[in-house]
Amino acid sequence: VKSDALVFYGATGDLAFKKIFPALHMMVKRGNLQVPIIGVARGDYDLEKLKARAKESIQKHGNYEEESFQKFSNLLGFVGGDYTDEETFKRIRTAIGNAHHPTHYLAIPPVLFPSIIQQLDQSGCAKGARVIVEKPFGTDYESARALNKILLSKFSESSIYRIDHYLGKRPVNNIVFFRFVNSLLEPVWNKDHIESMQITMAENFGIQSRGAFYDVTGAIRDVIQNHLFQVLCNLTMEPPKALDSESIRDEKVKVLQAITPLRGQDVVRGQYKGYLSEKAVKPDSNTETFSAMRLHINSPRWEGVPFYIRAGKNLPVTCTEILVRFKHLPSAYSSVASKPNHIRFRISPDVTVAFGMLIMAEGEDMKSVMSEIQGNPTPFPNEKDAYERVLTDAMAGDPTHFARQDYVEEAWKIVDDYLASECPVFEYEPGTWGPENVDELILPPGGWNNPIVN
Ligand code: NAP
Repeated sequence: VKSDALVFYGATGDLAFKKIFPALHMMVKRGNLQVPIIGVARGDYDLEKLKARAKESIQKHGNYEEESFQKFSNLLGFVGGDYTDEETFKRIRTAIGNAHHPTHYLAIPPVLFPSIIQQLDQSGCAKGARVIVEKPFGTDYESARALNKILLSKFSESSIYRIDHYLGKRPVNNIVFFRFVNSLLEPVWNKDHIESMQITMAENFGIQSRGAFYDVTGAIRDVIQNHLFQVLCNLTMEPPKALDSESIRDEKVKVLQAITPLRGQDVVRGQYKGYLSEKAVKPDSNTETFSAMRLHINSPRWEGVPFYIRAGKNLPVTCTEILVRFKHLPSAYSSVASKPNHIRFRISPDVTVAFGMLIMAEGEDMKSVMSEIQGNPTPFPNEKDAYERVLTDAMAGDPTHFARQDYVEEAWKIVDDYLASECPVFEYEPGTWGPENVDELILPPGGWNNPIVN
């Protein structure tokens, strides 16, 4: 069912400013959001200030237009108060009015979730409602389980929407689409034909001013356990038996369940030089700003195929890219240095799906040249951004692009023991592809695919 009111907590926050207001404004503009939108915050805020902040946010980060902004502004309401105070929730209950299926969007620091869930229940705000929770969903398996327990004590699983905004990205969803609509892929999408896959998420900047957050998080928790595992699932899941949300989410969970928990010998962690002098970072911090890992999926389809995942800050480029490398076959032409075929998915900054193959090179001596057939979708000018897409889905009641309870728990199980162990971290120069020993310890056959960004 469609939700008939949106209450969002953390309306004065950084995420609201950068992502949520611009997304909600676009939803209004497209006619996908026509219900009361109630911002909640503490302090000396009021509705006028909230509208001014929303306007500034949309002008800076969104597609501001006077007419649609007015529509958005007319839907906007405000409730002020502390999240520990039950009076705040009585006011929220009043503001919801006669909406039967309000959505509560918790865009606030996760430490506040338990008390808010409790208050939502006690005040009657949880009745008929759904709840959207922001990342991070726990910091390990136990904390994720505890958070699930709290949520599930007041909401049913079908009313809980755990955000992973990567699932709102078209090129991430296209991986599944591309696999299952192109008939030539399925016969070769397995251990008999695929040698390895690698996923790289590189950023050419450091932690910026987010030291306090980053230093207790690190690359594995920040982007690998959530975003890049989702990408891995899209690349490797079995065809779902139907296209409903649960069939798709069932297949993703099966992938995670089949992954061997991460062992020390399959990971390299790195930290860029200069990280320890970043603001709000512990002077002796052991947090990784880079990690490369090798995973195995114990399933008939993927037995023996290594999956490499690498993510880091202060790398040479900003790019997220996947390389699927096919098996190397002996060439029938003795003159041809046989190189494996590949499929390359670029998720950002630009979007590409490319098929790499050898063709005959110039000259008469039967040499080959590696060439790519590229499917570059022309940029879609009306493309929804990831936040707009997931919030639209949540308001419409479609959980497909959200992480289910078992998914988040299984994802933590893979990294939990490794994260709890005293694993070393190696220094690397900013602007390089991580610590030098990464290539000794885990080097995909054929080498790392270092994306080139123009
Ligand atoms: P934030 O700016 O630190 O906090 C959001 C709001 O929470 C603040 O405006 C503040 O509202 C309220 N708040 C903070 N501490 C509080 C407390 N002790 N009691 C009551 N209210 C408190 O956080 P954010 O960066 O917007 O992130 C919000 C959520 O999104 C978090 O779960 C975060 O992990 C997630 N997230 C953020 C980003 C990002 O880029 N920022 C990206 C992905 C996910 P008042 O004005 O009322 O004090």
